[in-house]
Amino acid sequence: MADTQPFTVLIVGGGLVGSLASLYFARRGWNVQVYEKRLDPRTDPTPSGRSINLALSVRGISALQEVGVDEAILKTAIPMKGRMIHSLDGELTSQPYGVFGEHINSIDRKLLNEHLLNSADALSNVHTHFEHEMTQCDFDSKAVSFMKIDGTKVTVKADLIIGADGAYSRVRQQMMRKVRMDFSQEYIDHEWVELTIPPRKDGSYAMNPNHLHIWPRQTFMMIALPNTDKSFTVTLFMPRDKFQSVRTESDLIRFFESTFPDAVPLIGLDLLVGEYFKNPKGSLVSIKCSPYHYQDRCVIIGDAAHAMVPFYGQGMNCGFEDIQALDEFISTHLSVAAPSGSTSPSPLAIGEALKAYSASRHKDLVKINDLAMHNYVEMRSDVTKVGYLLRKKLEAALHRVAPSYVIPLYTMVSFSRIPYSEVMRRWERQTYWLNVAGVISGVAASVGLGVAYARYIGWRLFWYPAREDKSVTTIVATKVAGGGIWTALSGAYSAGRWKESFDRA
Ligand code: FAD
Repeated sequence: MADTQPFTVLIVGGGLVGSLASLYFARRGWNVQVYEKRLDPRTDPTPSGRSINLALSVRGISALQEVGVDEAILKTAIPMKGRMIHSLDGELTSQPYGVFGEHINSIDRKLLNEHLLNSADALSNVHTHFEHEMTQCDFDSKAVSFMKIDGTKVTVKADLIIGADGAYSRVRQQMMRKVRMDFSQEYIDHEWVELTIPPRKDGSYAMNPNHLHIWPRQTFMMIALPNTDKSFTVTLFMPRDKFQSVRTESDLIRFFESTFPDAVPLIGLDLLVGEYFKNPKGSLVSIKCSPYHYQDRCVIIGDAAHAMVPFYGQGMNCGFEDIQALDEFISTHLSVAAPSGSTSPSPLAIGEALKAYSASRHKDLVKINDLAMHNYVEMRSDVTKVGYLLRKKLEAALHRVAPSYVIPLYTMVSFSRIPYSEVMRRWERQTYWLNVAGVISGVAASVGLGVAYARYIGWRLFWYPAREDKSVTTIVATKVAGGGIWTALSGAYSAGRWKESFDRA
C-alpha cells in the first residue's frame, strides 16, 4: 500500500545552518519541522551572545544561491577586498585577498538568520518552533523530546533528525550513546570580546569599510568588520591570562593606548570601557568527530559536527557547504532507490546517503579545522613578516600568469569550492615546489655571488697564489670563509623552508 504520511525531517537548531537546511529539505516536498531553544530572533531584542557579524565567502554564497536566497542576503553585505594591517605606529597597509579583485563579505548574523527564517516561514511545508529545547532523542522509536520555556514537555515523531544545534550539540551527545563515535575537543587558551567603532560624527565610516582591519600583535590580535550602519564590530582575541590582567579602567586604557593607539580615538574611551567590561568573553573550541550519522535516522551538520576556531572565517561557510554536500548525496542515492507508489524516500537510500556523506566529508572537515587553527598565527603575526609577504607576492604573481596551476591558499579556501582536503594537498605540493625553487635560486645566487666575489678579489690570486702582498694561507682562508658564509646562508634558508613544509604537512 502507498505510504500517505509525508516524510518528516526534524531539525534541532534554528541558527544559521539549521534555518538554511530547512530550505533544502523543503525543496523535496518533505515535511520540515525546525525546533529552536531560544526566542524567535525576529522578535527578541536581546543579543544572541554570538559574533555580531561574519565573513561570508564563496562556499557559503554557493549554498545560499542554490535555494535562491543569495541575492537578497548579499544586498545587505559589505564587500571586503583585503586586509588592512594596523601597525603599532599607526601605519596602514592594505593586503588584497585576491589578484583578480575577489572579496569576502561582511554580513550581519542577525539579519542573515532572520532572512533565512523568513524564507523558511514562507514555505507551507516548513514549520518553525521557538522556545523548544531538545532534551532527548530516541532514534529507534523516532521520538524527539523537548522542554518548552514554560517547563512543559512535548515529544514529536520524525523520520530523519538533523542536529544543527551548534558546538555543544545535544543531538551529538545523544548519538554518541548509539554510535561508536570518535570525538575530540580542544579549547584554545584565547578568548574574545566584541567592541564597537561607531560612525564618525558626520555619519560616515571611521575607517575604510572595504577591508577587514587587523591589528596584529604577535601573540594576540584585534580585528574589525564593517556594518551597514557605518559602525565596525571589533573583536579582540587574547590569551585568557591577558584578559585577566586587565582588571581596572586604568589597566584597560593603558593597555589600549600602548597596544592599539590608533583604535582608541576611533572607539572612544567611554565606549571602550563600557563595552570591554560589560560584554561577555567568549571561549574558542575546536571539535572533531566521526561519523556524523546514525543509520537512516540522524545526521549532525554545522558546528555540531565541526566547531572550529574562527580565524579562517569558515565556520558558517563550511556549515552551509555541509548542507549542499549532504543534499547532493541524498539526491544521488534517492535517484537510485525510490520505491514506486511511495511519497517517502526509502530508508535504505537515506541510510546509504548519510553513510556516504559521513565517509566523504570527514577528511575535508578535519583539514579546515586544522587550517583555521593555523590561520590564527598567520593573522596575528605572519602578516607582518618579510618572508610571508614575499611568498604572498610570489604566489600572487604566479597565480596571475598561471591561475589554475598556482593558487594561493586563501584563494582556494575562500574563493573556490575545491574540497578542503584537496586544498591542503595542492597547498603542500605548491609549498614543496616553491621551496625547491627557493633552494635552487638560493644556490644559484650563492654561486653567482661567489663568482662575483672571486672576480672582485681576482681569480688569478687563487690560481697563482704567489702574489707578493698576500700569503697563500690568507687567500685560501678568505675564499673558504666567503664560500662558507654563502653555503651557511643558503643552507639555513633551505632548512627553514623544509621545516616549514614539514610542519604544514
Ligand atoms: P549555531 O550558530 O551555534 O546555532 C545553533 C542553534 O541551535 C542555536 O540557535 C541554538 O540556540 C540552538 N540549539 C542549541 N541546542 C539546542 C537544543 N538542545 N534544542 C534546540 N535548539 C538548540 N564563521 C564564518 O563562516 N565566518 C566568520 O567570519 C565567522 N566569524 C566568527 C567569529 C566568532 C567570534 C565566532 C565565535 C564564530 C565565527 N564564525 C564564523 C563561526 C560561526 O559563527 C559558526 O560556524 C556558525 O554560527 C555555526 O552555525 P550553526 O547553525 O551550526 O550553529
